[in-house]
Amino acid sequence: MQQRPNLKDHSIEHLRELLSAQGHVPYRADQIAGWLYQRGIDDLDCMTDLGVELRGSLAETWDARALELSGVDRSQDGTVKAVLRAKDGAEIESVLIPEEDRTTLCVSTQVGCAMACSFCATGALGFSRNLSTAEIIDQVCRMRDISGEERRITNVVFMGMGEPLLNLPAVIEAVQLLIHPKAFAMAPRRITVSTVGLVPKIAELLACAPINLAVSLHATTDAVRDRLVPLNRRYPIADLLDELRRIEFVNTRRPVFFEYTLIEGVNDSPEDAARLAPLLAGIPSKVNLIPMNPHPDTTLRAPSEQAIDRFLRIVAGSGLRVTLRRPRGEDIDAACGQLALRKLGEALAG
Ligand code: SF4
Repeated sequence: MQQRPNLKDHSIEHLRELLSAQGHVPYRADQIAGWLYQRGIDDLDCMTDLGVELRGSLAETWDARALELSGVDRSQDGTVKAVLRAKDGAEIESVLIPEEDRTTLCVSTQVGCAMACSFCATGALGFSRNLSTAEIIDQVCRMRDISGEERRITNVVFMGMGEPLLNLPAVIEAVQLLIHPKAFAMAPRRITVSTVGLVPKIAELLACAPINLAVSLHATTDAVRDRLVPLNRRYPIADLLDELRRIEFVNTRRPVFFEYTLIEGVNDSPEDAARLAPLLAGIPSKVNLIPMNPHPDTTLRAPSEQAIDRFLRIVAGSGLRVTLRRPRGEDIDAACGQLALRKLGEALAG
C-alpha cells in the first residue's frame, strides 16, 4: 500500500516552503507545528485555527501520525518500555527513564541493527530498515502521551535500537525538530546521540547543533573491541579517538561521554582500567561504566561487585570523570543492550 507523506518528516522551514508554494501563508506551518509538537495533537480535523479549506486539503494528502502504541511494560523502578508499531507493521522499542530531577527518553533510530555488537540483544535481531524522521519524532509524542503532564520528558538520548549515524539525515532532522522553538524547544544540551564509532559521520552530526556525543567504547585494546564491536575492525580505537581529538568541542563545552559496558573476564581487568586515562588524553571526557545487562542471546555477564568497585576506583584515581550507571528497567529487559522486542506483559489490543 502506498504510504502518504508525513508532516513530521519535514522541518518547519520546509513546511513553510511547501505551503506557500500551494498559495497558503507560510505562517500556517508554525501553527501546524504548534498542534503537532507543543499540544501533541495530530488529528488534522482538530487544528481549528487553520481554516476548513486548508484542514480538508491537508487531510486528503498528509499523515500526521507515524507510530501506534503496541505494548507497554513498567519496571518496579519506574522505567517504562513501550513497543511502537509503524504503518508497515515494523516494531521498535522506546524507553522512558524517570529520575528525581529529570525524565529521559531513549529513542530508537533503526528497526533492528546491523552492527552485531556481541553484548547487545538488538544486534542479535539483525537489521531491517532505517526509521524516518517522523518515526523517530513520534516516539517522543507517544511516550509523552504515556508519561503525562506531571512527568515531562526533559532529556532525549538516541541510544535505543540501531546505530544513529547509519541513519544520519533522519537523526539530524529529528534533532532539529527537538530543539526548534516552534516544535519541542528543547535545549541542545538535553539531547545525546550515541555511536559505536562510525568515524566519518561524527563531525557531520556534531555540526548540526551543540548536542552531546556518547561513544560506545567498551574496550581499551583493539583485540577486545574487535570482538565486542565488530565495526572496530574498520575503525579501530586509535582512528576513533584521533577523530575526536580533531573535532573542536569548544562550542559545546560538553565532554564526550564514553560508555563502557563492564563484562566479566573480558574488559574488567585493572590493566584495562589503568589504560583508559592515557587513551582518552586530549579529549574532554566523561566515562560511564555500565555493568553488563544479561539477556538470553549471550553468555556474557557483569563482573562481581568487588571487580566493578576496583575498576571504578582505578579510573577515578587516574583523574578521569567517571560514574557507575546502575541498570534501569532490568526486570522488563529495558536496560542498555536488552531491547529485542520480547513479548511485553501489558500487550495492547489493535
Ligand atoms: S550496541 Fe547499539 S550499535 Fe551495537 S548492536 Fe546494539 S543497537 Fe546496534
